[in-house]
Parts: sequence; C-alpha cells; structure tokens
Amino acid sequence: MVMVMQTFGLKTQIILGNGSLSRLQKITSSYDRVLILASRSVKREGFLKEAEKYISEAGAEVESITGVSAEPSYEYVEEILPRAREFHPELIIAIGGGSVIDVAKAVKVFYDSPETAFEEIAFFSRFQRPKPIPKLKTPLIAIPSTSGAGSEVSGASVLKKNGVKYNLVSFEIAPDFAILDPRLPVTMPREVARNSGLDVLVHAIEAYVSKAASPFSDVMAVKAAKTVFELLPKSVEGDNEAREKMHYAATMAGIAFLNGRLGLAHAMSHKGAWMAPHGLLNAILHPCVMEFNMRDEGARLRYRELAKELGMKDEKELLARVRELNEKLEVPKLREIVEEREFLARLDKMSEKAYHDPLISFNPIEPSVEEIKKLYLEAFYEK
Ligand code: NAP
Ligand code: FE
Repeated sequence: MVMVMQTFGLKTQIILGNGSLSRLQKITSSYDRVLILASRSVKREGFLKEAEKYISEAGAEVESITGVSAEPSYEYVEEILPRAREFHPELIIAIGGGSVIDVAKAVKVFYDSPETAFEEIAFFSRFQRPKPIPKLKTPLIAIPSTSGAGSEVSGASVLKKNGVKYNLVSFEIAPDFAILDPRLPVTMPREVARNSGLDVLVHAIEAYVSKAASPFSDVMAVKAAKTVFELLPKSVEGDNEAREKMHYAATMAGIAFLNGRLGLAHAMSHKGAWMAPHGLLNAILHPCVMEFNMRDEGARLRYRELAKELGMKDEKELLARVRELNEKLEVPKLREIVEEREFLARLDKMSEKAYHDPLISFNPIEPSVEEIKKLYLEAFYEK
C-alpha cells in the first residue's frame, strides 16, 4: 500500500458580519502600541478613522501608515520599515486589499527578524528551497477591503522585484485574525470588484485541481467557485448582498489555496506581473491554462468532478462558463492592454521565470518552458 498523508489547517481566527470592524476594540485592549497599514481608499471612506477610534478607546496608542500602494514591491516595504521600527508596535493591523495585507506580512517579517534578508527567504525558484522564515512574535490582524486575494488567511506575501512577483511563504506570516466586515468592499469600484472577484475563481479552480488538494480544501473551493458563478456579476454591478457573499467566498478560496495551493495560471501571472493587475491577468491566462491541463486524463477528471459539483455537465462546460464569465464582465484581451513589441521582447525571460515558479509543483501537469511560452502567446493572440 502506498502511504498518503495530507494535512489541512487554518491559523487565522475569522470574525465576520456587518460592523465586525468594532471587534478591534476588544482585540487591541491587551496591547499598548498598534501599527495600522492602510490604503488610500480605506482612509478616504472613513474606515481608517473608525479603526483608530476603536483602538484609542481600548487604551492603546495607534500609528497609521496610509497610502500603501497596489501591487507592491519589496523596495516599498524597505521604504516604510524605518517608520514601523521607530514606532515599535506590539500588534500590526492591515486594512486594505491583498496588496496592503501582503505589505503588512513582509513588514512583520523584517520588523521581528531584522537580520533576515529578502533574498534568503523569497521563493526565487522551485529548484532551490529558500531559508525558512524564523519564528515571529508580532501578531497580525488582516481586514480585507477587496474580495479576492485571500491573503487574510494565507501564509503568503507576494512582492514584486524588478516587475516580477516572488512569494514569501510561511505559517508564521498567516494573520492571527481576519475581520470580514462586508461594509468595506461596498466601496470597491466596478473594476476592483471584478478583478479581485475573478481571482477568487482562479484560486478555487486551481486549488481544486492542484496536486495538493484534499477533500477538505475541495469543500472551500467548491463553495467559493459556486458563489463566483452565481453572484460575481451582481456584485460587480453593486448589489450589496452579493458583495457580502463574495467577501466571504474570497476567504473560503483563500482557505482552499492555503491548503491545496495554486498552479500554472498563478505562476504565469506572477512572472508576468508587469502586464496587468493580479486578478485581471489571472482571469486572462486561466482559460488557456485550463485547456492545457485538460490534456491530462487525471486533470480532466478533476475538472469534470468540479463541474458536476457546480451543476454543470462536464469539464468542457466548465471551461466555456469560465470564458463566458470573462466576456460578460468585459475582461479585455491581453493584446488590448499590453504593447505587442514589449510583450515579445519580454516573452522568453518571462516564460523561463514562470517555469521556475514554485507553484508549478502543484499544477496537475508539469509544462516545459516552450509550452509556457506558447500559452502566453495563445493568451496574447486569442480571438
Ligand atoms: P489590491 O491590489 O489590494 O487593490 C486594488 C485597488 O483597489 C487599490 O488600488 C485600491 O485603491 C482599491 N481598493 C481596495 N479596496 C477598496 C475599497 N473598499 N474601495 C475602493 N477602492 C478600493 O487588490 P487585491 O486584488 O485585493 O490584491 C491584489 C494583490 O494581492 C496582488 O499584489 C497579488 O499578487 C496579491 N495576492 C496575494 C495573495 C496572497 O496569498 N498573499 C493571493 C492572491 C493575490 P487605493 O490604493 O486607492 O486604496
Ligand atoms: Fe491570486
């Protein structure tokens, strides 16, 4: 008998519901110094002020770094680290999209462990394991304002270096608390709701067909995918009930990929990060990746199983529905947003880097560099 052993876990305690941001008061009451990282919109919409009020009422001193930018780079983390160190927080809170939460995770690493270097711990290649992230002490609370990345429960922080994304991966950086207050994603503009929502579908499907999927991660993936098909268009149009359900679905997909991991679409999107925002680029690349994976009998069966769970006939219908959703939500073609000359000039290097991305290890089939290049080209010239 071949022994097979898997694990499923979740470090993060999830607090959810309308107004649940107020739980900050109770959680922060045992700390003296709290650092908040927040994005521009969170400040503009008044949620930063509300969070600061709860913390002050709990008797803690609070310092906020605002304007944390989207699709962040490691250089940006380095830029804000001195402010974090100077304030010396006992607790870090991130309020914003996946970008802000990822920055907060990296700040936590280099604040708690100043002797650690990004180059030692980042996953540059699946053929070379990085040094493990050491034990970290400062707790982290993640409060997502988008419904997509799943970073509020994941053990990953995705940061750009020279236009290419690399992962820091460790349970140490998974948040201790995630507060899912559906009032926050209400203010997402249409495009942010669409892009982050499409990321949820890619997370769910990639986690389901991944080599590391288990019956436990499958449950989360199925529910998240079902919610996207049923409610993402409504959520994009601004229906608040749909937005609330999408907010929770994003975290469910996060739990699915925290355990089941991701695959080739994410590998290609991380290494092509210069082309478009994360969720949008995933949505563009994913149908080509699905079709490619379906060459494999085992993968085909997994897509079919997922299709049936979602009430569809087979894997072909699933692929057609994924493409249909892109069309309905007016996802542009890659050639409409990326200049052909630059794309072709960067194609070889990008394909080589995607081939080295650690997430390829979980994709149901291992592609060659040439095959990855063909997939980028297919996505670019797709009709
Ligand atoms: P995001 O990049 O965090 O945010 C996109 C934009 O949405 C921002 O420019 C922000 O504007 C705006 N925004 C956010 N919330 C808003 C709100 N409630 N109202 C109005 N505007 C709002 O988007 P995301 O899709 O959540 O995160 C993408 C990032 O996460 C990528 O870098 C990706 O690589 C990463 N990611 C990480 C993981 C992980 O496990 N760690 C997984 C998947 C993706 P302002 O800046 O003006 O506020
Ligand atoms: Fe993603």
